[in-house]
Amino acid sequence: MQQPDDLSTYQATPDLLKGKNILVTGAGAGIGRAAALSFAQHGATVILLGKTESHLSEVYDAIEANGDPQPAIVPFDLATTDESAYEDIALQLQNNLGGLHGVLHNAGILGELKPLEQYDGKTFADVLNVNLLSNFLLTKALMPSLKAAENASIIFTSSSVGRQGRAYWGAYAVAKFGIEGLMQIWADELESTSSIRVNSLNPCGTSTAMRRQAYPAESPSSTPQPEAIMGAYLFLMGDESIHINGQQLDARTR
Ligand code: NDP
Repeated sequence: MQQPDDLSTYQATPDLLKGKNILVTGAGAGIGRAAALSFAQHGATVILLGKTESHLSEVYDAIEANGDPQPAIVPFDLATTDESAYEDIALQLQNNLGGLHGVLHNAGILGELKPLEQYDGKTFADVLNVNLLSNFLLTKALMPSLKAAENASIIFTSSSVGRQGRAYWGAYAVAKFGIEGLMQIWADELESTSSIRVNSLNPCGTSTAMRRQAYPAESPSSTPQPEAIMGAYLFLMGDESIHINGQQLDARTR
Protein backbone atom coordinates (compact mmCIF):
# COMPACT_ATOMS: atom_id res chain seq x y z
CA MET A 1 0.00 0.00 0.00
CA GLN A 2 1.22 3.45 -0.95
CA GLN A 3 1.51 5.86 1.99
CA PRO A 4 -1.09 8.61 1.38
CA ASP A 5 0.40 12.11 0.98
CA ASP A 6 -2.18 13.38 3.45
CA LEU A 7 -2.40 10.70 6.16
CA SER A 8 -5.75 12.03 7.37
CA THR A 9 -7.30 10.77 4.11
CA TYR A 10 -6.31 7.15 4.79
CA GLN A 11 -9.32 4.86 4.43
CA ALA A 12 -9.11 2.03 6.93
CA THR A 13 -10.91 -1.27 6.43
CA PRO A 14 -13.56 -1.87 9.15
CA ASP A 15 -11.55 -4.71 10.73
CA LEU A 16 -8.10 -3.08 10.39
CA LEU A 17 -7.29 -3.51 14.09
CA LYS A 18 -9.28 -6.65 14.84
CA GLY A 19 -7.61 -8.77 17.53
CA LYS A 20 -5.14 -6.04 18.50
CA ASN A 21 -4.64 -4.70 22.03
CA ILE A 22 -3.83 -0.98 21.95
CA LEU A 23 -3.04 1.34 24.84
CA VAL A 24 -3.91 5.03 24.49
CA THR A 25 -2.68 7.59 27.01
CA GLY A 26 -4.80 10.67 27.59
CA ALA A 27 -7.76 8.63 26.31
CA GLY A 28 -10.31 10.63 28.29
CA ALA A 29 -10.36 13.80 26.19
CA GLY A 30 -9.43 15.47 22.92
CA ILE A 31 -7.35 13.57 20.39
CA GLY A 32 -6.81 10.57 22.68
CA ARG A 33 -10.56 10.14 23.16
CA ALA A 34 -11.16 10.23 19.41
CA ALA A 35 -8.30 7.76 18.81
CA ALA A 36 -9.60 5.33 21.44
CA LEU A 37 -13.09 5.37 19.91
CA SER A 38 -11.70 5.04 16.40
CA PHE A 39 -9.35 2.15 17.27
CA ALA A 40 -12.24 0.33 18.98
CA GLN A 41 -14.50 0.97 15.97
CA HIS A 42 -11.89 -0.80 13.86
CA GLY A 43 -11.84 -3.86 16.08
CA ALA A 44 -9.17 -3.16 18.72
CA THR A 45 -9.40 -3.83 22.43
CA VAL A 46 -8.38 -0.45 23.77
CA ILE A 47 -6.73 0.19 27.12
CA LEU A 48 -7.80 3.65 28.21
CA LEU A 49 -5.14 5.33 30.35
CA GLY A 50 -5.59 8.81 31.78
CA LYS A 51 -5.66 10.93 34.88
CA THR A 52 -9.37 11.61 35.40
CA GLU A 53 -11.33 8.40 35.91
CA SER A 54 -14.72 9.97 35.05
CA HIS A 55 -13.37 10.97 31.61
CA LEU A 56 -12.18 7.40 31.00
CA SER A 57 -15.53 5.99 32.14
CA GLU A 58 -17.36 8.22 29.66
CA VAL A 59 -15.17 6.90 26.82
CA TYR A 60 -15.62 3.34 28.08
CA ASP A 61 -19.42 3.78 27.96
CA ALA A 62 -19.27 5.29 24.46
CA ILE A 63 -17.24 2.32 23.17
CA GLU A 64 -19.68 -0.12 24.78
CA ALA A 65 -22.66 1.78 23.34
CA ASN A 66 -21.11 1.44 19.87
CA GLY A 67 -20.97 -2.34 20.34
CA ASP A 68 -17.18 -2.36 19.94
CA PRO A 69 -14.77 -4.64 21.87
CA GLN A 70 -14.92 -4.08 25.62
CA PRO A 71 -12.11 -1.72 26.64
CA ALA A 72 -10.13 -1.56 29.87
CA ILE A 73 -9.59 1.46 32.12
CA VAL A 74 -6.27 2.35 33.74
CA PRO A 75 -6.46 5.52 35.84
CA PHE A 76 -2.89 6.75 36.16
CA ASP A 77 -1.16 10.08 36.69
CA LEU A 78 1.68 10.40 34.20
CA ALA A 79 3.32 13.01 36.42
CA THR A 80 4.49 9.97 38.39
CA THR A 81 8.25 9.58 38.25
CA ASP A 82 8.40 6.33 40.25
CA GLU A 83 9.53 3.67 37.77
CA SER A 84 7.98 0.83 39.78
CA ALA A 85 4.49 2.31 39.27
CA TYR A 86 4.94 1.92 35.51
CA GLU A 87 6.22 -1.62 35.95
CA ASP A 88 3.12 -2.46 38.03
CA ILE A 89 0.78 -1.26 35.25
CA ALA A 90 2.75 -3.16 32.62
CA LEU A 91 2.63 -6.37 34.65
CA GLN A 92 -1.09 -6.00 35.23
CA LEU A 93 -1.66 -5.59 31.49
CA GLN A 94 0.61 -8.49 30.59
CA ASN A 95 -1.23 -10.79 33.01
CA ASN A 96 -4.64 -9.77 31.68
CA LEU A 97 -4.03 -9.25 27.96
CA GLY A 98 -0.76 -10.90 26.98
CA GLY A 99 0.72 -9.13 23.97
CA LEU A 100 0.33 -5.42 23.28
CA HIS A 101 0.08 -4.51 19.59
CA GLY A 102 0.17 -0.74 19.92
CA VAL A 103 0.81 2.23 22.17
CA LEU A 104 -0.33 5.76 21.42
CA HIS A 105 1.55 8.13 23.69
CA ASN A 106 -0.84 11.05 23.48
CA ALA A 107 -1.36 12.56 26.96
CA GLY A 108 0.19 15.95 27.48
CA ILE A 109 -0.01 19.29 29.23
CA LEU A 110 0.76 22.74 27.90
CA GLY A 111 2.53 24.29 30.87
CA GLU A 112 3.12 28.02 30.58
CA LEU A 113 3.37 30.10 27.43
CA LYS A 114 5.94 32.73 28.35
CA PRO A 115 9.57 33.73 27.78
CA LEU A 116 12.17 31.33 29.16
CA GLU A 117 13.52 34.18 31.30
CA GLN A 118 10.21 34.17 33.20
CA TYR A 119 9.51 30.42 33.11
CA ASP A 120 8.98 28.79 36.49
CA GLY A 121 11.42 25.93 37.15
CA LYS A 122 8.89 23.72 38.93
CA THR A 123 6.42 24.00 36.04
CA PHE A 124 9.27 23.24 33.63
CA ALA A 125 10.02 20.00 35.50
CA ASP A 126 6.31 19.05 35.70
CA VAL A 127 5.89 19.46 31.94
CA LEU A 128 8.99 17.38 31.23
CA ASN A 129 7.75 14.65 33.57
CA VAL A 130 4.29 14.34 31.98
CA ASN A 131 5.23 15.02 28.35
CA LEU A 132 8.60 13.24 28.15
CA LEU A 133 9.79 11.16 31.11
CA SER A 134 6.48 9.24 31.35
CA ASN A 135 6.76 8.32 27.66
CA PHE A 136 10.17 6.75 28.31
CA LEU A 137 9.16 4.95 31.53
CA LEU A 138 5.92 3.58 30.08
CA THR A 139 7.54 2.39 26.86
CA LYS A 140 10.35 0.70 28.77
CA ALA A 141 7.93 -1.04 31.13
CA LEU A 142 5.69 -2.21 28.27
CA MET A 143 8.56 -3.58 26.17
CA PRO A 144 8.04 -7.27 27.11
CA SER A 145 4.34 -7.05 26.12
CA LEU A 146 5.19 -5.22 22.89
CA LYS A 147 7.81 -7.81 21.99
CA ALA A 148 5.29 -10.57 22.69
CA ALA A 149 2.99 -9.19 19.96
CA GLU A 150 3.80 -9.38 16.28
CA ASN A 151 4.41 -6.07 14.47
CA ALA A 152 3.67 -3.74 17.35
CA SER A 153 3.43 -0.01 16.65
CA ILE A 154 4.45 2.81 18.99
CA ILE A 155 3.29 6.34 18.19
CA PHE A 156 4.82 9.25 20.06
CA THR A 157 2.91 12.54 19.83
CA SER A 158 4.96 15.48 18.67
CA SER A 159 4.17 19.05 17.69
CA SER A 160 5.36 21.66 15.23
CA VAL A 161 7.22 23.33 18.12
CA GLY A 162 9.08 20.06 18.76
CA ARG A 163 10.62 20.26 15.29
CA GLN A 164 11.41 23.98 15.13
CA GLY A 165 11.81 25.96 18.33
CA ARG A 166 9.40 28.84 18.84
CA ALA A 167 9.44 31.70 21.32
CA TYR A 168 7.29 31.34 24.45
CA TRP A 169 6.58 27.61 24.07
CA GLY A 170 9.04 26.81 26.87
CA ALA A 171 9.08 23.35 28.43
CA TYR A 172 6.32 22.06 26.12
CA ALA A 173 8.52 22.57 23.07
CA VAL A 174 11.62 21.23 24.84
CA ALA A 175 9.69 18.08 25.82
CA LYS A 176 8.48 17.58 22.23
CA PHE A 177 12.09 17.91 20.97
CA GLY A 178 12.90 15.21 23.54
CA ILE A 179 10.06 13.07 22.20
CA GLU A 180 11.55 13.21 18.72
CA GLY A 181 14.92 12.09 20.10
CA LEU A 182 13.33 9.34 22.18
CA MET A 183 11.43 8.11 19.12
CA GLN A 184 14.58 8.00 16.99
CA ILE A 185 16.58 6.12 19.61
CA TRP A 186 13.86 3.52 20.26
CA ALA A 187 13.36 3.10 16.50
CA ASP A 188 17.06 2.58 15.88
CA GLU A 189 17.55 0.22 18.83
CA LEU A 190 14.49 -1.92 18.04
CA GLU A 191 14.87 -2.08 14.26
CA SER A 192 17.26 -5.01 14.16
CA THR A 193 16.09 -6.79 17.30
CA SER A 194 12.29 -6.77 17.07
CA SER A 195 9.28 -6.28 14.78
CA ILE A 196 8.31 -3.14 16.70
CA ARG A 197 8.08 0.10 14.74
CA VAL A 198 8.32 3.52 16.36
CA ASN A 199 7.27 6.83 14.83
CA SER A 200 6.30 10.34 15.87
CA LEU A 201 3.11 12.02 14.77
CA ASN A 202 2.34 15.73 14.88
CA PRO A 203 -1.47 16.02 14.99
CA CYS A 204 -1.18 19.62 13.71
CA GLY A 205 -3.63 22.24 14.99
CA THR A 206 -6.71 20.37 16.25
CA SER A 207 -9.78 21.67 18.07
CA THR A 208 -9.33 20.49 21.68
CA ALA A 209 -9.12 21.94 25.19
CA MET A 210 -5.34 22.25 24.85
CA ARG A 211 -5.66 24.15 21.59
CA ARG A 212 -8.17 26.55 23.20
CA GLN A 213 -5.75 27.06 26.10
CA ALA A 214 -2.88 27.84 23.72
CA TYR A 215 -4.91 30.04 21.35
CA PRO A 216 -7.78 31.54 23.38
CA ALA A 217 -8.65 34.12 20.71
CA GLU A 218 -8.89 31.59 17.88
CA SER A 219 -12.26 30.39 16.63
CA PRO A 220 -12.60 26.66 17.54
CA SER A 221 -13.95 26.00 14.04
CA SER A 222 -10.70 27.17 12.40
CA THR A 223 -8.97 23.85 13.18
CA PRO A 224 -10.26 20.33 12.46
CA GLN A 225 -12.03 18.24 15.06
CA PRO A 226 -9.96 15.28 16.36
CA GLU A 227 -12.18 12.86 14.40
CA ALA A 228 -11.02 14.45 11.14
CA ILE A 229 -7.38 13.36 11.60
CA MET A 230 -7.96 9.76 12.67
CA GLY A 231 -6.83 8.39 9.29
CA ALA A 232 -3.22 9.05 10.33
CA TYR A 233 -3.61 7.25 13.65
CA LEU A 234 -5.32 4.25 12.03
CA PHE A 235 -2.68 4.06 9.31
CA LEU A 236 0.17 4.01 11.83
CA MET A 237 -1.54 1.43 14.08
CA GLY A 238 -2.58 -0.87 11.25
CA ASP A 239 -0.40 -3.39 9.45
CA GLU A 240 -0.23 -1.29 6.27
CA SER A 241 2.45 0.84 7.98
CA ILE A 242 4.65 -2.12 9.02
CA HIS A 243 7.52 -0.81 6.86
CA ILE A 244 7.53 2.67 8.44
CA ASN A 245 10.00 3.15 11.29
CA GLY A 246 11.79 6.13 12.79
CA GLN A 247 9.74 8.67 10.83
CA GLN A 248 8.55 12.14 11.84
CA LEU A 249 5.05 12.37 10.40
CA ASP A 250 2.22 14.90 10.26
CA ALA A 251 -1.41 13.84 10.71
CA ARG A 252 -2.47 16.08 7.85
CA THR A 253 -0.93 18.28 5.20
CA ARG A 254 -1.14 21.92 6.12
P1 NDP B 1 -6.24 17.73 25.66
O1 NDP B 1 -5.82 18.73 26.67
O2 NDP B 1 -7.56 17.89 25.00
O3 NDP B 1 -6.17 16.26 26.29
C1 NDP B 1 -5.02 15.86 26.99
C2 NDP B 1 -5.23 14.51 27.59
O4 NDP B 1 -4.03 14.19 28.33
C3 NDP B 1 -6.40 14.44 28.57
O5 NDP B 1 -7.12 13.26 28.35
C4 NDP B 1 -5.72 14.42 29.93
O6 NDP B 1 -6.36 13.64 30.91
C5 NDP B 1 -4.39 13.72 29.61
N1 NDP B 1 -3.41 14.06 30.64
C6 NDP B 1 -2.92 15.29 30.94
N2 NDP B 1 -2.09 15.20 31.99
C7 NDP B 1 -2.07 13.90 32.37
C8 NDP B 1 -1.43 13.19 33.41
N3 NDP B 1 -0.63 13.80 34.29
N4 NDP B 1 -1.63 11.87 33.52
C9 NDP B 1 -2.45 11.23 32.66
N5 NDP B 1 -3.10 11.85 31.64
C10 NDP B 1 -2.92 13.17 31.52
O7 NDP B 1 -5.07 17.72 24.57
P2 NDP B 1 -5.04 17.36 23.02
O8 NDP B 1 -5.98 16.25 22.74
O9 NDP B 1 -5.10 18.60 22.26
O10 NDP B 1 -3.53 16.85 22.87
C11 NDP B 1 -3.16 15.49 22.71
C12 NDP B 1 -1.70 15.45 22.31
O11 NDP B 1 -1.53 16.11 21.05
C13 NDP B 1 -0.76 16.14 23.27
O12 NDP B 1 0.44 15.38 23.38
C14 NDP B 1 -0.47 17.47 22.60
O13 NDP B 1 0.78 17.98 23.00
C15 NDP B 1 -0.49 17.07 21.15
N6 NDP B 1 -0.74 18.16 20.21
C16 NDP B 1 -1.98 18.74 20.17
C17 NDP B 1 -2.22 19.74 19.25
C18 NDP B 1 -3.56 20.41 19.15
O14 NDP B 1 -3.70 21.35 18.33
N7 NDP B 1 -4.56 19.98 19.90
C19 NDP B 1 -1.18 20.20 18.30
C20 NDP B 1 0.09 19.51 18.44
C21 NDP B 1 0.28 18.52 19.37
P3 NDP B 1 -7.73 14.07 31.62
O15 NDP B 1 -8.80 13.47 30.77
O16 NDP B 1 -7.61 13.44 32.95
O17 NDP B 1 -7.76 15.57 31.64
